[in-house]
Amino acid sequence: MQNVDVVVIGAGPAGTVAASYLKKQGYEVTILEKEKFPRFQIGESLLPCCMEHLEESGLLEAVKEKNFQKKTGAAFMRGEKRCEFFFSEQFTQGWTWTWQVKRSEFDMTLAQETARKGVDVHFECEVLSVECSADMQTIEYKDAEGAIHTIRSKFIIDSSGYGRVLPRLFDLSKPSSFTPRGAIFAHLEDINRTEKASQNIFVHSFDNNKSWIWAIPFSDGSTSVGIVGDKEKIIELAENDSQGYKDFIRTFEDLKGRFTDSALKFEPRHILGYSIGVKKMWGEGFVMSGNSTEFLDPIFSSGVTFATASGLLSAKMTHRHLQGENVDWKKDYEDVIQKGIDVFRSYVAGWYSGDFQTIVFAREIDSTFKNQICSVLAGYVWDQANPFVKKHDTILPTLAKVIKMKEKEVQQ
Ligand code: FAD
Repeated sequence: MQNVDVVVIGAGPAGTVAASYLKKQGYEVTILEKEKFPRFQIGESLLPCCMEHLEESGLLEAVKEKNFQKKTGAAFMRGEKRCEFFFSEQFTQGWTWTWQVKRSEFDMTLAQETARKGVDVHFECEVLSVECSADMQTIEYKDAEGAIHTIRSKFIIDSSGYGRVLPRLFDLSKPSSFTPRGAIFAHLEDINRTEKASQNIFVHSFDNNKSWIWAIPFSDGSTSVGIVGDKEKIIELAENDSQGYKDFIRTFEDLKGRFTDSALKFEPRHILGYSIGVKKMWGEGFVMSGNSTEFLDPIFSSGVTFATASGLLSAKMTHRHLQGENVDWKKDYEDVIQKGIDVFRSYVAGWYSGDFQTIVFAREIDSTFKNQICSVLAGYVWDQANPFVKKHDTILPTLAKVIKMKEKEVQQ
């Protein structure tokens, strides 16, 4: 039976960042990945903060070579209203750009580079069961031929994303407090794209803050277009071979004909009820990272950045644990990751309640506030010097209230 230091479940961004970091520290690491890569994955717009995690785990240079579409900001729109954020105009010192990526290519690059560094990456190996104890973990998995294998490790990092291997096996999932929503999406030809539209993610709000569309441009001239809304709306758009989605994308007024004649690169896919939480992020012999922990909502493109942030921190804590240190997993891992998630939770809630939109679509927005909000949108949600991070739970409703009062006064 094979014995290694660490088994990582899943070769997405969380798993590859964790595995690469640990390999750098000299451990023997195996990744077990259920799918054959390249495989489709949703989550195509990155945030600047994740560049730091890619750099620290030694994966940044390999991604740079792929010349993915550069992303320098985010544009929010509601009817004729528009608010553009530039990552170069930020409160927190950090990266001012990132990429928009087809995840099949991005994740393949991360996995190949991780393997090149010496991590054993086994594709088409699905983890079926796990037995954990203080210092010996036993993992059973099935390979592409259906053969069952067992591998042992000192520690497990579960980065299985939507597969949620350990939350399922150990009954650790927790329902989300958000309304169950869904998304329907495809990649489209984008011949009408302007230079500006190539550098940004475009988000169009409609349906009284309940629904929105993303347009995420790729370097090959195609664009990912997704509609997010209540579960029932997405089911309706997906009926009859996604006719509702196709009609909507081609005729939605705010897109101004951008996709009217665009061919689809594949038939639309949809996903429902993705928001989910976790009772705890660690246990004896294991830790979870990325979407195995909590996923909130796609509105602020925070998923991959949380995957890389938690992948990296989980690896650092695993390193300390394997060095014989007494790691306080709750304080040094879970509370840190939870803090960042909670900041985004306030912004997601603020998006759908309308408070965030009241602020960004106001007649005027104070430039200091805008830069501070921009840092949240860039993923720097651990910067306690930023009042829009520190007071995340109160600042949006308070500011929105003030703006509404001022705008009422102007109207009178
Ligand atoms: P994943 O990327 O899901 O990787 C997990 C890997 O584990 C997979 O390859 C899977 O095959 C493997 N696995 C699963 N089960 C097993 C098993 N039993 N054994 C072995 N391997 C297994 N995020 C952004 O940053 N930007 C966006 O624009 C964005 N848009 C989104 C839009 C929608 C509609 C949704 C729902 C999410 C979006 N996200 C976005 C979130 C993003 O998809 C995830 O947060 C991100 O992919 C999480 O990365 P991960 O490494 O945790 O998991």
